[in-house]
Amino acid sequence: MSIFASVEMAPGDPILGLTETYLADPRTEKVNLGVGIYVDEQGRVPVLDAVRRVEQALARDNLPRGYLPIDGLPAYNRATQKLLFGEGAPILEAGRVATAQTIGGSGALRVGADLLKQVLGANAKLAISNPSWGNHHVVFRTAGFQLVDYRYYDDASHGLDFTGMLEDLGKLEPGTVVLLHACCHNPTGVDLDAAQWAQVAALLKDRGLLPFVDMAYQGFDKDAAADATAVRLLADSGIPAFVVANSYSKSFSLYGERVGALSFVGADRDEAARLLSRIKTTIRANYSSPATHGGKLVAGVLESAELRALWEQELGAMRGRIHAMRAAFVDKLAALGAPDFGFINRQAGMFSYSGLSKAQVDRLRGEFAIYALSSGRICVAALNTGNIDYVTKAVAAVCR
Ligand code: PMP
Repeated sequence: MSIFASVEMAPGDPILGLTETYLADPRTEKVNLGVGIYVDEQGRVPVLDAVRRVEQALARDNLPRGYLPIDGLPAYNRATQKLLFGEGAPILEAGRVATAQTIGGSGALRVGADLLKQVLGANAKLAISNPSWGNHHVVFRTAGFQLVDYRYYDDASHGLDFTGMLEDLGKLEPGTVVLLHACCHNPTGVDLDAAQWAQVAALLKDRGLLPFVDMAYQGFDKDAAADATAVRLLADSGIPAFVVANSYSKSFSLYGERVGALSFVGADRDEAARLLSRIKTTIRANYSSPATHGGKLVAGVLESAELRALWEQELGAMRGRIHAMRAAFVDKLAALGAPDFGFINRQAGMFSYSGLSKAQVDRLRGEFAIYALSSGRICVAALNTGNIDYVTKAVAAVCR
């Protein structure tokens, strides 16, 4: 008998399972609003011109494929720090930030979680927004953290329960890690404004909590600098230590290239140097070193003034299309006499909690071949001028 005979089947991923059902659906009018990636007006994952130009130069040079350093390409890490904190930020000048290229934003979360667990020991606790991206729970639980929720989404207003959030954060034990979405909260699309971030930063500092910011959608709400407001406020807040995981999967449309970065901020240059050494030993024990290709693409774009400007423009076009689809969704539903969906315009990024109930989501799928998550999360980027009339009519029908 095989030593694996007792291994049980793991539960399937609900989002990927939905896509499989969608692909098998024979109805030609079908629409998949359950996706977790940005697709363009034609429903395709875009290849950005800025990226293509670096890729063409790389193909021409055809350089040998040696290993990268454990912490990745130095140019990538420098460019990442500037994109997060801003060129010339005092925190960078002071040498307080230790950054390593990682395997996507997920790799940054996992390496960060492993390292924090080493530092915090048996009492490692993570506070997480309710709701949050499902993989957050999995990564931190697997790394050995105890998880607690903090209030975040308010069903009634389809907005932020800021009072509840402050109350819950205010009760956490000092030393608790607090996971925060920098912008374009997944799955709700509900974000804090700058004044609310300033209040949260002050609370975290007063209570000795450790912020861990996840930024997977920089540039999908406002421009890249504005979407980094939370990170930059923390940098200026006087908090001695925090962590940032960021991903280029969406902002560069480089999902499968697995490009992300982990930054630990310490109290001073010496602390940052020690943190970088520990980030490196953690990476070494996980996957040894990151992948070359995606890192070179991102660094190549961000290091060239011309390509960087082109990227900002292409990022702006993705963001603009998302905003236009939000507005069209709201306007068309209003014209159809549906209940008010105006809150969709106040949510940010490519996801929205639509407020649709599980029963309504089931009807959308059964009667109209429109697929959304049972939580009501829709990917606004999956809407386009070709399907928006069909989708809004169906949504209006299930709201009757
Ligand atoms: N954080 C959040 C909130 C995400 O939504 C995602 C991707 N869906 C990630 C992190 C991970 O990004 P990556 O694909 O780069 O691993």
